[in-house]
Amino acid sequence: MKKIILSLLLISSLGAYSQRTCATNTKLEQLKANDPSFAVHHQETMDYIRNNATAQTNRAPEVVITIPVVVHVLYKTAAQNISDAQILSQIAILNADYRKTNTDFNTVVPAAFQPFGADVELAFCLATRTPSGQATNGIERKSVPSNFVFEDSYYTSAGLTAWNPTKYLNIWVGRFTDSSLLGFAYLPSSAGAAFDGLCIGDQYFGNTGTATFPFNKGRTATHEIGHYFGLEHPWGDAQCDTDDGVADTPGTYSPYFGCPTYPNNTNVCAPNATGAMFMNYMDYVDDRCMAFFTNGQKAVMQATMNGPRVSLKTSNGCQSLSVTEQEAIQAIAVYPNPVSQYFFITSPHTAVDFVEIFNTSGQLVQTQTLDDVNNKIVIDQLASGIYYLRIYNEGNYLKSDKIIKK
Ligand SMILES: [Zn+2]
Repeated sequence: MKKIILSLLLISSLGAYSQRTCATNTKLEQLKANDPSFAVHHQETMDYIRNNATAQTNRAPEVVITIPVVVHVLYKTAAQNISDAQILSQIAILNADYRKTNTDFNTVVPAAFQPFGADVELAFCLATRTPSGQATNGIERKSVPSNFVFEDSYYTSAGLTAWNPTKYLNIWVGRFTDSSLLGFAYLPSSAGAAFDGLCIGDQYFGNTGTATFPFNKGRTATHEIGHYFGLEHPWGDAQCDTDDGVADTPGTYSPYFGCPTYPNNTNVCAPNATGAMFMNYMDYVDDRCMAFFTNGQKAVMQATMNGPRVSLKTSNGCQSLSVTEQEAIQAIAVYPNPVSQYFFITSPHTAVDFVEIFNTSGQLVQTQTLDDVNNKIVIDQLASGIYYLRIYNEGNYLKSDKIIKK
């Protein structure tokens, strides 16, 4: 009998250990409990993102936003001082997962769900310049004492303070005191806060070094950064009355764990032939069993990038321009200005291929592809006022400018 109880205990503890947990909601509830005005701000921010997500489905494709990342490694042992290779493996995984170039998409996502799969058009780069303009590899390291509570103190002076969180995605990697934690991130309602970003256990970061099965394919960061861009879990409040606010993720009332068999209606609010979309990055399955974001989730993330996290778009954290390149970008000219009918963009020293036009509310009102021949932008349909331009080449942001429509 004792043996059986011991085995049962062992099985249940192993089960608890190998199940994904995400502390994003726990941290969010702490913020709400500490500050009633934050609770209101959070709800208004999420409402804003959801209301603006619809408009994002009509946005111009192929404008990839690259997010500058700084990784702060806080280690208690030499092994936890993870290698540059482990960090680079995580950045590569994020780039594959957010651009839908992950090689397991076709094998993990059932055919019925594949049409919902989205290239989120977000990319990630390790920072090449610090907030003060110094060259960097985007990685900071610090030894912390064994009693350091990573999950509470990561962003304090005892840990490593954030680089300007409106310009960088801060990622803290370390060993949690609470061993049940894999990671957490802050939703866009905390944009710019000193603690804003992703906090993750080193055993769940990247796919090499200390990365540990079944969370050794870098999907914890993919999931948590989904929260950072405004996504919620597919089961919402677990009541089947409000879900994640995304139309193309079927409503469920509970997470899935491990690696379920498709189709699966166990936790589905309205059982149907295709069942739960448990292989979505925002569910709780093991790393090898999740492989996509949906178009609806992309719309939420892009609404966040045009709202609470818009300042990341103009970050120069990944620019390491030579003087010559800077001169080339400075030479990009917009004329005439002010203008009533149409204007031109010329760039004598560097290629430009795309322009976005925003109104003073930050709404994208017009986009246009540019080339050597077609660099004329007609704006006679726009209302009079000030507009902001963002000029790109091959998805890389080059320059902002301002025009006045007469
Ligand atoms: Zn989560």
